[in-house]
Amino acid sequence: MSDHAGRERTGEDRTGEERDGRDRTGHDGGDGGGREREGGPGRVLVLNSGSSSVKYRLLQGTERLASGTVERIGEDGSPVPDHRAALESVADRLADEGLGLDSPELAAIGHRVVHGGTAFTEPTPITDEVVAGIRELVPLAPLHNPANLAGIEVTRRLRPDLPQVAVFDTAFHATIPPAASTYAIDRELAGRLGVRRYGFHGTSHAYVSREATRLAGDPDARVIVLHLGNGASASAVSAGRCVDTSMGMTPLEGLVMGTRSGDLDPAAVLYLARTGGMSLDEIDELLNRRSGMLGLCGDNDMRSVTERVEAGDEDAELAVSVYCHRLRKYVGAYYAVLGTVDVIAFTGGVGENSAPIRARALEGLEAMGIVVDPARNARGDTVVSPDGSRVKVAVIPTDEEYEIARQTLSVISHHAG
Ligand code: ADP
Repeated sequence: MSDHAGRERTGEDRTGEERDGRDRTGHDGGDGGGREREGGPGRVLVLNSGSSSVKYRLLQGTERLASGTVERIGEDGSPVPDHRAALESVADRLADEGLGLDSPELAAIGHRVVHGGTAFTEPTPITDEVVAGIRELVPLAPLHNPANLAGIEVTRRLRPDLPQVAVFDTAFHATIPPAASTYAIDRELAGRLGVRRYGFHGTSHAYVSREATRLAGDPDARVIVLHLGNGASASAVSAGRCVDTSMGMTPLEGLVMGTRSGDLDPAAVLYLARTGGMSLDEIDELLNRRSGMLGLCGDNDMRSVTERVEAGDEDAELAVSVYCHRLRKYVGAYYAVLGTVDVIAFTGGVGENSAPIRARALEGLEAMGIVVDPARNARGDTVVSPDGSRVKVAVIPTDEEYEIARQTLSVISHHAG
């Protein structure tokens, strides 16, 4: 394995759906983050096997023992021809550190799986039937589920005796009521083809909404989570249950993202095909890879976009105003869906780090009790609203790997018990 194929790296793609092309080098192993959180002592390997990369993290309770990414799987000139080679390289790296897959201390492997459809609404111990079920969902997630399956198949071969659990990106949203999950189209057709809203980023929304509920000090708290990474989604959570989310049948719907348009009149797709002469593949590529911030101002790295705004760049200014307008609209919509709001939690690379985006997204909402304190926001405090505000505005770093490990352990202890 050459360094070029990716040794330890940080800043990994949290959704696995896209990459932002930034240099992601830097050692990422071993510090454990020092945060004390709940979690059993079992050792869990978390695997996020995406289409061109495999990310892994080995956790012992809340402590990170090892982590990293194998990248450029199957690309021209890459020393990693396929997922089998990538997973074997992960196994070798762990073995080098004395943490091999054959270690008796390894309690389980937790796999991130993007699409669980309506079949998988909870973390699920992996069996042959479950593998077949995930495969049946490939048409709904043609890029992601096959890559997730490749990871599952290789690790099952390497450690057939070890409990392995699939943790689905869609599962947290399974509680969304039909009023929010149903598209207003022909019901028979929609039912037959599975055309409905599923939602994604579920492990992040689960983790951050739980932390936000804890911050509110009320188990019935109503929370809006804004997960703003390269992919971006909002969720409305009441008493720990998700009641609405912005991504839909696919991760294209909702907020403006790094390279995705988010909400768009579906008739624009027809127009692009009929009048613009574009093929379906071209439109797919346009809306998923060349839209969002990239389409609006030629850059999907929010750091440089906000710097350009400061320097008076008009394209960047329009892009940020569209991005923040969409966010504000969803906050208002979810306030109405929930009836009120106790906490608004920002997370993801943009949500955790960009004070200007947080401030602009919530501008003008004082009458709803939503206020951002400039000094706290600039520091990125956990609570960035003033003391005594009706709505707490919070910055809560997400931790999807920890959440996958937590869910994995809870499933295996449940099954063992
Ligand atoms: P992914 O969805 O790929 O996991 P992340 O959650 O890591 O992505 O977020 C990536 C985004 O976060 C990029 O657009 C990046 O520019 C943005 N970001 C990271 N740090 C900052 C920062 N300090 N200010 C503004 N944006 C930032």
